[in-house]
This record gives sequence, C-alpha cells and structure tokens, in this order.
Amino acid sequence: MLDALKQAAIAEVDRLTPELVQISRFLHANPELAFEEHQAAELLTRTMASHGFSISRGVAGLATAFTASHGSGEGPTIAFLAEYDALPGIGHACGHNLIASGSVGAALALKSCLDQVPGRVLLVGCPAEERGGGKIPLVESGLFQGVDAAMLVHPGNRNETVKKALGMRDVEVEFFGKAAHAAAAPHLGINALDAVILAFNNINALRQQIRSDARIHGMITHGGKAPNIIPDYAAALFYVRALDMEYLEELYQRVLGCFEAAATATGTRHQVKRAGHDYRPHKINYAFARLFQQNLEALGISVDQGPEDAEMGSTDVGNVSQVVPTLQPTVTICGPKVSCHMSEFAVASGSPAGEHGMLLAARAMALTGLDLLRDRAALDRVRAEFAGGRRP
Ligand SMILES: [Zn+2]
Repeated sequence: MLDALKQAAIAEVDRLTPELVQISRFLHANPELAFEEHQAAELLTRTMASHGFSISRGVAGLATAFTASHGSGEGPTIAFLAEYDALPGIGHACGHNLIASGSVGAALALKSCLDQVPGRVLLVGCPAEERGGGKIPLVESGLFQGVDAAMLVHPGNRNETVKKALGMRDVEVEFFGKAAHAAAAPHLGINALDAVILAFNNINALRQQIRSDARIHGMITHGGKAPNIIPDYAAALFYVRALDMEYLEELYQRVLGCFEAAATATGTRHQVKRAGHDYRPHKINYAFARLFQQNLEALGISVDQGPEDAEMGSTDVGNVSQVVPTLQPTVTICGPKVSCHMSEFAVASGSPAGEHGMLLAARAMALTGLDLLRDRAALDRVRAEFAGGRRP
C-alpha cells in the first residue's frame, strides 16, 4: 500500500519529529489570543524559511497571517492550514498548537517529494479561528485562488474524517427607552431592559419551531445602570446558526421579527448591528475524506466515524471549504469524556498523546497531498464533487 515515495514522506516526518514537537511545545507554553499570535507567526515563518519556503507575512492585512510556499505553478497546489490562536484563560484547550505543528510537518514532508512529482506546497498561517474568523479575510483576498485542495487536522476524542459545521451569523440588538425613577415615576419611563427580556422570550418561543440542527443563543451585554432607574438602554448579542445559509437567512429574519415585536410591546426604539462576517457551513468532500481515510488505514489507524451532524460547532474553515475542496478530519488525543474547550483538553494538547496525534496527522496529510499531486484521477474526483456538490 505504501510505495517508496510515500515511505520517504513518512521518513521525512520521522526525521523532523524533534523540530515539530518543539514547535508544538513552544506554542502550547506561550498561548496567544486571536489576532495577537505574534510569537507563533514568527516561529512558524522562521521555520518555513529555514526549510527553503518563500514567505509572505501580514497577508490580507492581518499582521499574524502568512503564507509559506514551495514549488512551481506546474502541477496542483496543495495547501495546509495552520491555526495557532489560544483561548482566554485556558490556553491551548482547542489544540491549535497541534494543528500548526501538524500542518508544518505535512508541508515539509510533501515538499521533500517535489523533486519526484510536480506541484506546489503552501502553508497558510491562519490567525484567529476562535474569535473573529481570521480565514474570512484570507478567503476574500483571493488567497485560495489557484489552490486545488486545502486541509488541516483537528485534534479530538476520536478518529473521524467527516464532520459538518454550522453556518453562523452574529447580531447585536440595542433598545433605547427613557430613564425614570423606578418607584416614584415608573409611568414616565420606557423600559429598554424589558425589551431585551421580551426578545429572549420571543426567541425561546421560536426555538421550539426550528430545525433540530439550528441554534439561536445569546447573552445580555447591557442591562441597565441601577435597579431604581428604569433602564433607558439595554443590549444583547445573539448567534444564529444553521446547516445551510438559506435556512440561516430565514431564521435570521425571524430573529429580527422577535426584536421588532419586543420593541413594539415596550415602546422602545431598536437598532440591529452586525459585528462580524458570516461563518459558512463546511462543504463536505467525501472523495477527499476517503483518500485521507485510506492513508490513515495504511498507517495502521482505523477510523471511528460518528454521526456527521452531531455536536456541531462553527468554524471559519467552512468559509475556505466554500471556495476550495477542504478537509478537516480529527485524530484522537484524549478519552471520550474530554472534548475541546475543556481545561483537560489543554493538558492533552501538551501531552505525549497530543504529540503522537499531531505526528500521525502530519503523516496522513502528507500522504493525502501526495495522492492529489500525482494521481490525476483522485484529484479529478475531488474536484468533480466540489463542482457538482454530489457525493461520488
Ligand atoms: Zn476551538
């Protein structure tokens, strides 16, 4: 199953193991928040440059985004995505240190094959996955034009090749009322906090009538200044999520209706604001997933695929998947009771099990990239599925 070139790619990951582990440990020990990943971007670009890659820093206007490229325009371009931001308070509880080092390993191993097969290897440094959707400006800048396939492996609690992700839109609502003494003259006031509470209640009622995979959830960001003043200003922030953008748009309109009804009922004026760009759902590519699975199995690892649409979150990888065939499998680094964004997951991300998973990810991604570079039929299947949206 593993021919000489594939064995050489694996041997390259073995050779690079001390360096990859060092990268992972450095990122783990120095967690940086979204858009502030300066040490990570510096380490990763320095590493790629030392291996002969051409570096562009600050791409798409993001200080901590970069690309590292090697090879010629002849043959396909395979991109590996590196994420490296951490979470507030709990460090690398999403394991992005492993994502970054795994993608570096895959890019370097695939680069070592480029004297045998034509193609280009790209490492895309993607800031701010946890907050702010750093990949969205990267997609909008056209960075993925000319890329044939993109991949990254996320650490998790099982080996899976296919996981859907929800589209997501944020919306902030502000209600403007009139302050008054809450005991002496409540009849002179207009209560903005009541409008927020009614907005929540309207959405709670709506929630029963929506598809089971959609989500609407929020928090109050301003609730008044003192109990003895009728709040003249109150605000809340909501996320609306759905598996497809059409349904997301429909739900969003209904949420706007919930806000409007709350304003009408309370006599407040209201205003709606959007903070970020839409996170798009992950466009799944089964042909791509199958290639990865075959390589994982050739490495002696079996896939334990759970439901594709259970326990879904949202990720800006979805935005990438809308413009280029994109794969984000997961590899196990911990037991089933631990999952990402738990402090136990941060421990796993810095453990030997985490590093083992990262090295496995680097090997399997390098082999999958090699398949796409030299097996035209395999790449055509991935492209055809992407173009037609049909599962092969
Ligand atoms: Zn996360």
